[in-house]
Parts: sequence; C-alpha cells; structure tokens
Amino acid sequence: MTSVAERVAAVRRRMELACERAGRDPAGVRLIAVSKAFGPGAVAEALAAGVTDFGENRVQEALPKIAAAAELAAARGLPAARWHMVGHLQSNKARAAAGAFAILHGIDSIRLLDVLERAGGNQPVRVLLEVNVAGEPTKYGFAPGDVGAAVAYAGRLTRVRVEGLMTVAPAVRDPEEARPVFRELGRLARQHGLRELSMGMTGDFEVAIEEGATMVRVGRAIFGERA
Ligand SMILES: *Cc1c(COP(=O)(O)O)cnc(C)c1O
Repeated sequence: MTSVAERVAAVRRRMELACERAGRDPAGVRLIAVSKAFGPGAVAEALAAGVTDFGENRVQEALPKIAAAAELAAARGLPAARWHMVGHLQSNKARAAAGAFAILHGIDSIRLLDVLERAGGNQPVRVLLEVNVAGEPTKYGFAPGDVGAAVAYAGRLTRVRVEGLMTVAPAVRDPEEARPVFRELGRLARQHGLRELSMGMTGDFEVAIEEGATMVRVGRAIFGERA
C-alpha cells in the first residue's frame, strides 16, 4: 500500500519534470487534489502532505466534507484547505457553491453567470468558463466559438470574475491525443486575455502542463481508484 503522502510526492515529481520539459516554473502550476468519493480523513492526509487545494464535483457531497475536513485540520494543526468546484454546477446550488468554494471551474452558461451575479455576498465570485473543446455531445461546456460572447457578457457583471478557462479532455488511451485539446484551450485563453488554465487529470496532467496548465485536477493518482 502506498500512502497519500507518497502519491502526492510522486505527482509533484511528475509535475516538476513536465515543467522542466516545457521550460516552466513549477510555482506556476497549482495542484488541485480531487477528493470526490473520498472522505475528510483522506483530505487531512493530503493536507498533511502539503496539498493546499482540493476539488469536488458535487456541491451536496462537498459541503459536509468541507466542514468535516476543516474540523480535522484544526484539530491536527494543519492549514485550512482551499476548495474548488470542478464539476457541472446546477443553478439551484449556485448560491451555496459561491459561499463554499474559492473558485468555480465548471461555469458553462450565461444563465449561471447571471445566477452567480445575483447570489449575494460581498466577495467576488471567481469562475472559470468550461469549454467543450472537442465538441463531445456528452460533455458540458461552451462551444469554443461562444467563449468570446461569454467573456464579454461577464465583463459587464460586477461580482462575477472570469479568471480563465477549464476543460475536460476526451478520455483517450494515449495522453498525447489530448494535446491538441489543451493547446486549443490555451489559445482561446490568450485570445480572450484570460490567465488561468484548468486542465489535466490523472491520465493527462503532464501533457496539460506542457501546454500551459496553471491548475491540474488530479484525483486517482493521489487518492487511488474510486469505488
Ligand atoms: C474526477 C474529476 C477529476 C479528477 O479525475 P482523475 O482521473 O481521478 O484524476 C478532474 N476533473 C474533473 C472535472 C473531475 O470530475
């Protein structure tokens, strides 16, 4: 059995090597440990291993976990986790999500931008627009051609702040096949003046880093296979 700490170290090493290949500073890539399907104990283990950012894809599963992990962290003298909502967000959960997560990665409609703008609270709502780069019918996300209009729309909002783009690449056996998708997301972000690029998961995070990812969302390589 390998521990979470050992797996985190291995992922960090692979991230560093990918940065080296791409001539990038590792400080420019944030590791988000996707803890969906794992409990607060696993989150605390990763926190103890130095992970600061965590991802969840369902608000209902995340809220009690975030609270429980905060208690565990406090009890063990660990720093507080920063949480990212990486999944599709339903409008009726938008308000709760805006309060619990530092960044919402899966924003995929103008309607959701509106709901978040009206959600109340004083803090800006930091979001990434999800883009369905490969045009897969089963995936959420703006079509690449609609990103410009969404960014322009968000520019007129006062609370919602679009900081970048996010994508989930098609599931492929060879991560090299995902490279054109990551490259296109990077191109879109530059075209629209956006800084953050959330891309890359267990199967393809190294290629994503080579193509400019500023955040990688890694689950299985850190916590193990999900049941
Ligand atoms: C589950 C999930 C991840 C992590 O996937 P792994 O293959 O476990 O690394 C990343 N992003 C999103 C949106 C997810 O739902």
